[in-house]
Amino acid sequence: MLSATVSTKGARRWDNGHPWIYRSDVIGRPDGPAGAVHVNDQRGKPLGIALWSPQSEISLRLLDRNPDAIINGAWWHAAIAKAVARRNSLARDANAYRLVHGEGDLIPSLIVDRYDQWLVVQLMSAGLEQFRADIIDALRSLLAPTGILARNDVSLRAKEGLGNDVELLHGTVPDEIEVHEHGIRYLAAPWRGQKTGAFLDQRENRALVGRVARGRALDCFSYHGSFALHLAQHADQVTALDASAHALTRAEENFRRNGLTNGEFVEANAFEYLKARERERAQFETIVLDPPAFAKTRNALPAALRGYKEINLRAMRLLSPGGLLFTASCSFHLSKPLFMEMLEAAAADSGRRIVLREIRGQPLDHPELLTVPETGYIKGALLEAMD
Ligand code: SAH
Repeated sequence: MLSATVSTKGARRWDNGHPWIYRSDVIGRPDGPAGAVHVNDQRGKPLGIALWSPQSEISLRLLDRNPDAIINGAWWHAAIAKAVARRNSLARDANAYRLVHGEGDLIPSLIVDRYDQWLVVQLMSAGLEQFRADIIDALRSLLAPTGILARNDVSLRAKEGLGNDVELLHGTVPDEIEVHEHGIRYLAAPWRGQKTGAFLDQRENRALVGRVARGRALDCFSYHGSFALHLAQHADQVTALDASAHALTRAEENFRRNGLTNGEFVEANAFEYLKARERERAQFETIVLDPPAFAKTRNALPAALRGYKEINLRAMRLLSPGGLLFTASCSFHLSKPLFMEMLEAAAADSGRRIVLREIRGQPLDHPELLTVPETGYIKGALLEAMD
C-alpha cells in the first residue's frame, strides 16, 4: 500500500476527531492513484489508513486508526453493517431512511439511502470510488436490495476529478418508489428527484408538526408535499406552496394517494406570497418554512440571513394567536447560534411575542458528529405565537 506523510497540523486534525487532512498538510504525497494509503507523521509514526484523493483539496480521509487494518471486502462489510444496525429502530416508522451518512458514520464520503427494497448511493471521493465493488457487495449481502442506483450527479465530485453520472449498479430501480413515513405515504423519485429522491432528513420534524398542526395550515417550499401531507392529518385546510409546478403536481398526487381532500396547491414565490398574505392580514394556525439552502457558500451568508429573516418575520406576523410555526434551515454555513439569532431578530421585528417550544436538529439516520461540523446542516425550531 502507498503511504502519505502529514504535517503536525495535519496529524492534529485526526487527534481532534476530524477525518480530513488537506493538501497543504500532506508533506509527502503518495506516489500513485486514488485508493487507500498508510498515513505517517513527520517522524514516521503510523497514524492509520486513509482514502487518498490526488486531485482534491481534501487529500486524505481517515478510514481506520489501526495502521494494521486491511481495507478489503470484510472491512467494508463490517463498517457498513455497524451503520445499518444503528438504524434498526427506524424501520418501525418508515421504509425510507439514510443507512450511511458519510463522515457521521465514520465512512467518509459515502452516502447510502434506503427506499423500501431499493438503495441509492453517492460516492463522493476519488479514494472511495476505488472500493465501489466492495461497497456494492457489502450492501447486497447485508440488505439484499432489489436494485442499487448511484446518484453521483453531485457537484462535489468535480473537485475529486470524478464524473457526474446517474448509474444503475445492481438489479432494477423504478422511477417512483412509495415511501411510508409515520403513517403517510408519498412517492420518491430516485432517478430524478432532489437529493437521492426525497428529503429524508426532515422525517421526524414532519411527524412532529403533523401531531401539533391545526386550523388553516401553510407549507411553504413544499416540494412534493411531504410536510403538507402530515399537516393535513389534523389541520382543516392545507396550502402547499412551491415555485415548481412539477413538484406541486406530485404533491397533489401524494394527497390523492393518502385519500386527503383538504389540500390546495399554489405555484408561487414564497417571498411574494407571504408578503401578499401579510398585506391582506391573512392568518394561519400552522405554518411550515423549509426553504432550500439560501447560503450555498460562506460569502452568500449575509444575503441568506436577510432572506431567512424576511420569511420568518412574515410567517410570524401571519400566525393567529396561539399559532404554530415550524421553521428550518439546511444551510451548512448558517450555524446554530446564527439561526437562533436570526429568529430572535425576526421575532423582535414581527411585533409578536413568540415562544420557543422546541429546538430541532438532525434525525438518528443523519448523525451529526460534534467534531465534524460538516456532518451537520439542519436546524429547526417549533415556535408559538403568544398573542
Ligand atoms: N419541505 C420539503 C423540501 C423542500 S426543498 C420536504 O420536506 O420534502 C425546497 C423547495 O423549495 C423546492 O421544492 C423548490 O422548488 C422550492 N423553492 C425554492 N425557492 C422557492 C421560492 N422562492 N418560493 C417557493 N418555493 C421555492
